[in-house]
Amino acid sequence: MTTTWHDGTQCVVTLTFDIDGPTATMFRNPELADHPSVISMGEFGPKVGTPRILDWLASLSIPATFFIPGWVAERNEALVRRIAEEGHEIAHHGYMHEPPSALKPGQDEGEILDHGSEILEQITGERPLGYRSPSWELSPDSLNLMHERGFVYDSSLMGDDIPYFVGEPEKQMVELPVHWSLDDAPYYTYTPVAGRTAPINTPNDVLTAWQWEFDGAYKAGRMFMLTMHPHTTGRFARLEALDRLVRHIKGYKDVRFMRCIDVAETWLAR
Ligand SMILES: [Zn+2]
Repeated sequence: MTTTWHDGTQCVVTLTFDIDGPTATMFRNPELADHPSVISMGEFGPKVGTPRILDWLASLSIPATFFIPGWVAERNEALVRRIAEEGHEIAHHGYMHEPPSALKPGQDEGEILDHGSEILEQITGERPLGYRSPSWELSPDSLNLMHERGFVYDSSLMGDDIPYFVGEPEKQMVELPVHWSLDDAPYYTYTPVAGRTAPINTPNDVLTAWQWEFDGAYKAGRMFMLTMHPHTTGRFARLEALDRLVRHIKGYKDVRFMRCIDVAETWLAR
């Protein structure tokens, strides 16, 4: 077997959760901001989904990374503190879930980065070192702006399935790549009022797809990066599928569940 990792690890697994709450809907569809039903779908994430996921992670002693928009963090300070206290990583996910490539007039990408970092630092006492752009849409300036602010890694690009370096030669950061096939949103999102009416996949279909992805990543000695949303995967059937997936993964030897920051720092130290 081949492997990318130097410490006997065959596959690194990163479980990541983006606590978007209602921000993604409110930014993308401002006309829905006063629609209580669709907003409540998002509110389920910080209110019910995240505590449920935290209980599940604790039961398996798995560390994870939570990307949190500032707007959500401000309204859920106790939850953010709990996530940090339980040893998980808290990382940056914009303020109002603004994709840097689609900012509105008057919005400044650097200011949004600073504002989000200040909110997270004020709650946890630590500045976030990782960033994931909302909707995985960076702007041409994003990497430089992050580097100037001391971010260690970004997790918004799809150019590989192991970590890689991005940015100008003197301003390198680690990229922890993602992919839509390893995101719960395309499989499960059903929001008729926002025009998203593709049929909801069964958890079994998602479990099968993700198991095949993991099996391939394991054989090749790569990284298995999952992106999930507590308002989606916090629902019972989806969390059940994730639980079965993790038990499948735990049946393999030399697998390491890691927080994104720990993967990035390992990569930098090579
Ligand atoms: Zn998001």
